[in-house]
Amino acid sequence: MTRAQNTDVCVVGAGPAGLALSLMLLRSGVAVTLLEKSRSFARDFHGEILQPGGQRILDELGVLDAARSRGDRALRGFQVLERDRLLLDIDYTRLDAPYGRLLALPQRHLLETLLAACRTQPGFTYRDGHRLSTLTEEDGRRTGAVAKGPDGRPLTVRARVVVGADGRFSRTRALAGIDAGRTETFDQDLVWCSVPAPGRTTRHVRVHRAEGTAVLVHDTHPDRIRIGWTLPHRSWPAVAERGIGAVKDRLAAAVPEFADLVTEHLTGLSDLKLLDVFAARAPRWSRDGLVLLGDSAHTHGPLGAQGVNLALQDAAALHPVLVEALRAGDTSHARLARFQELRAPAADAVTRAQRLQAKAFFGTAGRAATLARAAAAHLVTRTPIGARITAKVAYGAAPVHVRTDLFTHPEPVPTGTGAADPARHASRAVHARKVHDDHRS
Ligand SMILES: Cc1cc2nc3c(=O)[nH]c(=O)nc-3n(C[C@H](O)[C@H](O)[C@H](O)COP(=O)(O)OP(=O)(O)OC[C@H]3O[C@@H](n4cnc5c(N)ncnc54)[C@H](O)[C@@H]3O)c2cc1C
Repeated sequence: MTRAQNTDVCVVGAGPAGLALSLMLLRSGVAVTLLEKSRSFARDFHGEILQPGGQRILDELGVLDAARSRGDRALRGFQVLERDRLLLDIDYTRLDAPYGRLLALPQRHLLETLLAACRTQPGFTYRDGHRLSTLTEEDGRRTGAVAKGPDGRPLTVRARVVVGADGRFSRTRALAGIDAGRTETFDQDLVWCSVPAPGRTTRHVRVHRAEGTAVLVHDTHPDRIRIGWTLPHRSWPAVAERGIGAVKDRLAAAVPEFADLVTEHLTGLSDLKLLDVFAARAPRWSRDGLVLLGDSAHTHGPLGAQGVNLALQDAAALHPVLVEALRAGDTSHARLARFQELRAPAADAVTRAQRLQAKAFFGTAGRAATLARAAAAHLVTRTPIGARITAKVAYGAAPVHVRTDLFTHPEPVPTGTGAADPARHASRAVHARKVHDDHRS
């Protein structure tokens, strides 16, 4: 039997983008149904380095401290090393407080905190274990989504807008007939692992350059280091065929400081997770009644750790566009396209920067290239221009703030437990229903 419900906005995907947007909309009195195919947030090798721009958005939403209290690591910035030589030192402590740092925040901690905050808001329905299968349509405009639940039963969500926040392989995007715009910008794939490292620390995201490859290392919660090994595109099967012993030897040689941990703790190939690295940018991000957000609109490589940052900033940019569109009763493509105008330049700037970084990190070791790298490193490490470049990486080409002036509902309870005062919660529920009804009349 088909189940059905009505809402203002149906968000597909409870990643950083979908959850942050849901919370902003809920606090603005907009009812949200969030569909998520997974039943847990255990996603160990998703993005976890949070840039200052993303930290500030979470702070403006009142959830940064609650997310950090679940466990994180503060890092001083990025360093690039070749053997023992420090080539580049991007020092985030030069940025203004309180965000003069990178945070290694496990994505699970971020998502659980955002979900707990959403649950304190009236008008919220969370459907985990629900995988989007179809979009509903009337006269060429999207009117909702159909998802298959854990028991196989379909759920129809009728909404004024559907938001596709379902990641780089977005089903929403495919169902809306929008091309992913995938490009093979990078010649590398990335293999991740993490090992316990009590008492050992990098205090930075370090990139160790060696023979046309690069190995990323950074501290992660709890008392571990995370290692990302870049390999030429599609070369992993051949490497894996040589077995875990050969992989351990290569990693230990690239990061000798942690060779003992790699040797002791990597026991099989299943301890490693391969990420197919690519860039993509959908040619259009909206249709009548539908908009794409975060990785589903634009995907990036992991260099420079921008994915979560962009996802959170996207959410903050889409929030006023949607609130105003709903208030005006106009959720047409013409209106929603404003979001793409606002955010596509920032996404494109990240892709361009990542192309340059890929050349710098993985390029040849010739004399000219080495000199060019040294000049660029000097610029970023020592000069005032470098401080400005660092701020741009940290906050993005077009920094975004949360439009808290649109909030009609108070901050969520910061413990992340969802244990709101029942009386206050009930009065907010009445308010949300009213806004919801106003929208529908
Ligand atoms: C291995 C790896 C390492 C990375 N490292 C970093 C990093 O250090 N820093 C950084 O900033 N970025 C990093 N990124 C990128 C970052 O994780 C993403 O850019 C970010 O998570 C994008 O957020 P999102 O909400 O747009 O999409 P996602 O996080 O991908 O979330 C999409 C959500 O949609 C759900 N979903 C998918 N399909 C459906 C469906 N049909 N129905 C319902 N739900 C669905 C998914 O389960 C998921 O919860 C990394 C990415 C990977 C894969």
